[in-house]
Amino acid sequence: MTATTNKAGVISRDSLEGLFDALIARDYVPVGPTVREGVIVLDELRGVDDLPEGWTEDQDAATYRLMRRADAALFGFNNGQHAWKPYLFPPKAKLWEAEKTPDGGFSMRETPDAAKAFAFIGVRPCDLHAIQVQDAVFMAEQNTDPLYARRRRKAFTVVIQCGQAAKTCFCTSMDTGPRADGGFDLALTEILDADRHSFVVEAGSAAGASVLAEIPHSEARPDDLAAAEACTKRAVDQMGRTLDTTGVKDLLYGSYESRRWADLERRCLACGNCTMVCPTCFCTTVEDVTDLSGTHAERWRHWESCYTTDFSYIHGGSVRPTIRSRYRQWLVHKLATWQDQFGTSGCVGCGRCITWCPVGIDLTEEVRLIRDSERKKDAADGHVQEHPHASD
Ligand code: SF4
Ligand code: SF4
Repeated sequence: MTATTNKAGVISRDSLEGLFDALIARDYVPVGPTVREGVIVLDELRGVDDLPEGWTEDQDAATYRLMRRADAALFGFNNGQHAWKPYLFPPKAKLWEAEKTPDGGFSMRETPDAAKAFAFIGVRPCDLHAIQVQDAVFMAEQNTDPLYARRRRKAFTVVIQCGQAAKTCFCTSMDTGPRADGGFDLALTEILDADRHSFVVEAGSAAGASVLAEIPHSEARPDDLAAAEACTKRAVDQMGRTLDTTGVKDLLYGSYESRRWADLERRCLACGNCTMVCPTCFCTTVEDVTDLSGTHAERWRHWESCYTTDFSYIHGGSVRPTIRSRYRQWLVHKLATWQDQFGTSGCVGCGRCITWCPVGIDLTEEVRLIRDSERKKDAADGHVQEHPHASD
């Protein structure tokens, strides 16, 4: 069957290997979820056998546990600590190098990016949004990062529509899931019941349609589409957390002196885990290194975190010397200043920062507590409520 970009098809579990064959034949490097050292990570995949068949996880604040499922689902879990970010925006990258020349000058050259084109297999809708959020950061017309742009333009994206949600998920609050309606090359919904194990597939681009045309599949029937819809509904029903985004920008801008920051300071370790696992955080620093002879120099860019004092060091000292000021910077940037900078929220509701915070700090809870404390302050001051739509 010749695929179109708007007609859903069905790929059987046994034919899914055809997806890998078609992508590898096009010289893509498939990257996706696999089990390693007790967690589901993202890594290069050789085929379907590398997927976490029959595995799931239990996630909560500061909790992650890999567990066996009762079935053989291939994508029956949520997001692990890895986002797709390292593949488009590497944690460490050599930007250029320079050599001293015999005449006392120097010659510089940009370091070519040797990475092949990646095919991302199993991108969750929230993470697809996170990639789009980083596109706005790295591919703005006047300010394009060449390394990111090259990798992003070459990438092929296979979304997996969520059929379950973790206790830490809140994509419905951020309007980023649990179903993606576009922005992918292919989208799969895994259907697994007593009678079938198959994938409803939609092509979202010409490249996706061309790959799909090489995979054995049939046209989706109404019961396949109904089963896919039921998957989405199940994920919505299981959504573990919510974040009330009503007026959140003004709320945070008006909470500079909130008492909550002092409480956070007592708990936050300033370890930066939340920024490392976050699929949208993009802070970096650069480091120049030379060899001992002084003839060769390199400039490296690597990920940084707004939780380190070095990151906010400006001549004479750090402008955010306390943990309270650094947590506030992170949360206010994610949910408020990001909107002014890039026109979207910097949070997609993936929940990673909740799971991987070693002390279980949960931004959905923090926003709720800041909202409550600001409301109480307003009431005590006899003010009219500033955020009339906020829920209790
Ligand atoms: S702030 Fe937390 S929940 Fe939001 S996108 Fe980043 S890691 Fe995910
Ligand atoms: S909020 Fe949690 S993960 Fe983030 S810096 Fe503080 S202790 Fe580390």
